[in-house]
Formats: sequence, C-alpha cells, structure tokens
Amino acid sequence: MSALNGRVAAADIRAPVNLPPFPSSAMDGYACRARDLAEKSHLQRVGESMAGHPFEGSIGPGECVRITTGAAVPDGLDTVVIQENTRVEDDRIEILEAPAAGANVRATGHDVKTGEVVIRQGQRLNPMDVGWIAACGIADAVVVELPRIAVFSTGDELVMPGEALNAGQIFDSNRIAVSALLSALPARVTDLGILPDDPDRIRTALLHAAAEHDLLLTSGGVSVGDADYLKEVVDSIGSLDLWRMNLKPGKPIAYGRVAETPFLGLPGNPVSTIVTFLLVARPVVLSLAGTEPEAPFSTTALLEGSLRHNPGREEFQRGVMRMVAGERHVRVSGDQSSNRLATFSGADCLIRIPKSSVDLPEGAAVEVLPFHGLLG
Ligand code: AMP
Ligand code: MG
Repeated sequence: MSALNGRVAAADIRAPVNLPPFPSSAMDGYACRARDLAEKSHLQRVGESMAGHPFEGSIGPGECVRITTGAAVPDGLDTVVIQENTRVEDDRIEILEAPAAGANVRATGHDVKTGEVVIRQGQRLNPMDVGWIAACGIADAVVVELPRIAVFSTGDELVMPGEALNAGQIFDSNRIAVSALLSALPARVTDLGILPDDPDRIRTALLHAAAEHDLLLTSGGVSVGDADYLKEVVDSIGSLDLWRMNLKPGKPIAYGRVAETPFLGLPGNPVSTIVTFLLVARPVVLSLAGTEPEAPFSTTALLEGSLRHNPGREEFQRGVMRMVAGERHVRVSGDQSSNRLATFSGADCLIRIPKSSVDLPEGAAVEVLPFHGLLG
C-alpha cells in the first residue's frame, strides 16, 4: 500500500464505510446514560467494553460499563464519564463530576461518512493520504500511470563521474542532478546517457526515445554556440515551439515536440539546469503525471547584505534563510555565476527578483521560494 505514496489518484476515492464504524469512546472511563447522570450520583457497573471487545449484554437504568478509548459505546448508552471524574468502590461507581450529555462519544461517521470523497481525482498522495485511505479500509486505488521520461546530457566534453578526465573534459553532473530531482516526482526515468555534439546522432537518439517516452528532457546544446545542435534537430524532426525565456539563470531553454512527444531542452550550465528544472520542467512533469501543478510555496524574507540586479530579466538567486528575533532573513549564497554549483551548497531557497527590480539594499523584503516546496 505504501506503493501508493507519491502517486496520483486516477479517480475520486470514496469511503466504503463510516469512520468510526460504530459509536466509540474518546476516553477511558464509564459509558452511561446522560439521563441517569442528571438524577444519580452513583451508577452500577455491569460489564466492560474494551477496544476490539464490545460489551454484549443489556444495560438497565442506573447502570454503566467500564470503557476504554476506541471501544464501542454499547447500544442505549450515550455519554462517557472520564475515569478521573469517578471514584470506584467495587462495582459501585461514584460520579464526582457529570459531563454534558453526549460527552466523549464519537458518533458513527464522525470522521467520514460512507460514500464521501476522501481523495480527489488528480490528487498526489502523500504519506498522510496513504494512511487516510488505509484507515478507510482501502487496500488499493487506481492511480495514473507514471509518465516515462528520457533524460539525456549533451556535449563532447562530458565524462561520467568516476572516470578519468582528459584534456578539455568535465564531469557530467546535470544528468545525475536531473535524475535525482525526478526521483522525487511521480515519474519513471530512463537515463539515456550523454549525446555527442553530432546532429545525426542526436536526431537518431531523440527519434528513438520519442517512440517510448512521454517527455524528452535534455540539458545543454540549446544556446547559440557552434556545437549547439538541439534546436535545429528538434525543428527538423518535429517542432520547436519556444526558445529562450526572459529568465536568469536559464535564458536558453527550448520547448517543442519530437514526433508527438514533448521535448524540453534545459540549458547546460549546471545552475541553470537545476533552476529551470525546478521552475519549468517540474510543473511539466507533474501535469504529465495527471496532477495540476500549483505555484510553488513562497514567502517573504528580509535581505541580509545587499543584492545586485539590473532591470530587464526576472532572476532567481540561491539563498540561505535563518530566523532572527522571529523574522525570516535571507542572504545570497555567494557568487551567483550559472556554472557554480557551489552556490547550491548550504542554500535552502531561491530568491525571486522581479524583472523591473534594481539593486536591493540590506533589509529589503524579498520573495523566497524554499526548496522544500520545489523538491518533490
Ligand atoms: P552548452 O549550452 O551545451 O554550451 O553548455 C553550457 C555549459 O554547461 C558548458 O560550459 C558545458 O560544458 C556545461 N555543461 C553542459 N552540460 C553539462 C552537464 N551535463 N554537466 C555539467 N556541465 C555541463
Ligand atoms: Mg554543449
């Protein structure tokens, strides 16, 4: 059943039973009739109702049963006196303080009624949801198939981490980061390795992958360099619908189709790859997974130190938050060059700087997007 965690409900899920399925006690004490409490200071204990072991006898006026939390309140009884408000002399129970009628009894269906929707179609199940449907007695649910996502890196300079670096080479980090980011989303990832800067090989690989995937996700090769072939290849075998966003980092980003399969070309600089994944690829993946992506959670924080920004492009810098005297502060996590993955280490949010903004002084209120709302 925990296999349902993170999956998207394909249809509304309704409660097959009332919860609780019977009137049950919220406390340990004595189940009785409210009418008796109004008239008597002592009740006669005639039995007990324990969780999983209901009382099965009959109960006359002036009588009560010992009851534990979660146990069934016997037919005819309506109120539970908590044990702290009683004094016990063998089977004679003195009521020291009478509660209101109906106190400490959870009615049948108090939590949910038979037929009520407990999970909506398109809802992504979190661990609490998984517990909730289990409580309703549901062992299995119809979920949306995971979208199949093909992940490529591109570039003749890339080698796998762990291999030796030759002259001019660097390690491929984007594919590893993107696969890890996808692993927290409802998606099935195929790692298709590194594509060389060779249009024929890129064409063949993309066409092949398109036949078996719901999204092609690449990084690199979408800028204006001489070895940036992705755009022209996609244009020649499908359509290139968007290229470049007014975003920093991440301006060179491409969106289109290869045959019928959506293609998303993230920029190659590792910081740009991750930021555009979070802001652009993540909602695309969620919507392919059958759930409506919501705007990521954001809040405000007071800037520690100043921040440089030229108007013209919306920018997302990496930040580190902390609480100071009950207020959220944020500072920029060092030099923000788009190749410097080091700016992510220790960072816990993106700082959003609107397009029109100029340099921001110390103490300015800024919008921050905590990573916990973006990762997963
Ligand atoms: P490109 O747009 O392909 O020119 O890539 C921009 C920059 O990002 C270049 O410095 C590339 O070497 C670097 N880069 C591209 N892909 C990767 C990758 N998978 N891992 C690390 N760096 C990359
Ligand atoms: Mg490249």
